[in-house]
Amino acid sequence: MDFQLNFEQKMVQESTRKMVEREINPIMAAHDADKPLPKAAMQKIFASCAAMGLTGARIPEEAGGTAMPALIMGLMYEQLPPAIALAVMAHEGTGSRLFNSSSPEQRERFLPGIIDGSTITCTGVSEPGVGSDPRSIKTRAVEDGDGYIIDGRKIWITNSTICDLMNVTCSVGNDERGLSQMMRFVVEREKSPFSAREIDVLGLKQGHIGEVLFEACRVPKENAMGEAGDAAKVLTLSWLANRPVLGLACVHLAQRALDMAVAYAADRSQFGRPINNFQLIQGLLADIAAAVTTSRLLCYYALNCIDNGERANHVSAMAKRHATVACNRAVSMAMEVHGAMGLTREMGLEQLFRDVRMFIVPDGTTQILTLIEGRELTGVPAYRH
Ligand SMILES: Cc1cc2nc3c(=O)[nH]c(=O)nc-3n(C[C@H](O)[C@H](O)[C@H](O)COP(=O)(O)OP(=O)(O)OC[C@H]3O[C@@H](n4cnc5c(N)ncnc54)[C@H](O)[C@@H]3O)c2cc1C
Repeated sequence: MDFQLNFEQKMVQESTRKMVEREINPIMAAHDADKPLPKAAMQKIFASCAAMGLTGARIPEEAGGTAMPALIMGLMYEQLPPAIALAVMAHEGTGSRLFNSSSPEQRERFLPGIIDGSTITCTGVSEPGVGSDPRSIKTRAVEDGDGYIIDGRKIWITNSTICDLMNVTCSVGNDERGLSQMMRFVVEREKSPFSAREIDVLGLKQGHIGEVLFEACRVPKENAMGEAGDAAKVLTLSWLANRPVLGLACVHLAQRALDMAVAYAADRSQFGRPINNFQLIQGLLADIAAAVTTSRLLCYYALNCIDNGERANHVSAMAKRHATVACNRAVSMAMEVHGAMGLTREMGLEQLFRDVRMFIVPDGTTQILTLIEGRELTGVPAYRH
């Protein structure tokens, strides 16, 4: 067992950190912190991530990707500003799903633009009435001559307002239990237009989260992916690595909050002494540091399990659940260390607080992840009766 990063892992971390400082941070700083970045700005950011191999991280080299070990991918994502980490993951995860269940012809058509970052993509599963239980989706795809007609609404879809291509999960009928037979379609926005509106949410405000409406949206048959009924399996495969990676986006935020709290506690004096002299302040700092360390190690461990080919459903759910909850609490404690200053925009902690809260929901809420862990321990799925 080795808890140290090796030379290659440290190099990857460092080069990603430098790329973010040089290429991504200036773009984000040049735009309103409270508004979604313009598409042109996102395209530049995606190109920078593509040059580092991030946009094809889970696609094999023979298909043009970089086939990164999951742990390396996590180390890189941890360095990205979290709004960008979510956007790149939505895009890159979509590419990986397309690769995992598509024909050679489809791969040739769609993957190059995804891998070089020029075609912005996303995955649409959630709907206004459907979140944790994707098997209840209502968006319908009905066969019609040489194509399918899609009708329905998707919501909370990362990148949807700026995407060129969307991987949409639709129902093509019901199975014997009355659950949706899910099938995925690649909807190319230019050829098969749909409307999308930005949703104003609590955090990650420079990113894009939208609601999408498909009204008699015609998609050619050659854009149907895989087999009817295989969508759940394809989605689950990418959720395994997504979960610890989203946990690491929270670690990024909590680490920043910890650094700020340690510095502030040394600077700020009350009762004639720097507040870092007080045991209760040291207790807060110790708790924040413990949250950062346990979250980081658990997420790395989950990614390492994936790299070793182990069944990682349990540990991946545990990593995201622990990291999101612990890091939310950690950022909140860092605000406490700052007193009223922690609540100001000027200090920047309030943005970390809003951003970290966003990660509790996507790719499995705390409750759903707990139930996945319970299922792995007992063999009994408690979420569906
Ligand atoms: C930042 C962000 C990005 C997102 N990006 C995407 C995206 O790109 N594509 C996409 O398709 N979706 C995306 N989503 C949507 C996300 O996947 C859903 O929000 C999530 O699955 C939860 O669904 P819901 O919000 O409808 O909550 P619901 O499923 O309605 O849940 C409401 C509450 O009930 C709890 N609950 C539900 N079922 C159970 C149960 N069986 N037992 C106990 N508690 C339960 C939940 O944990 C939650 O607390 C994103 C969401 C966010 C916040």
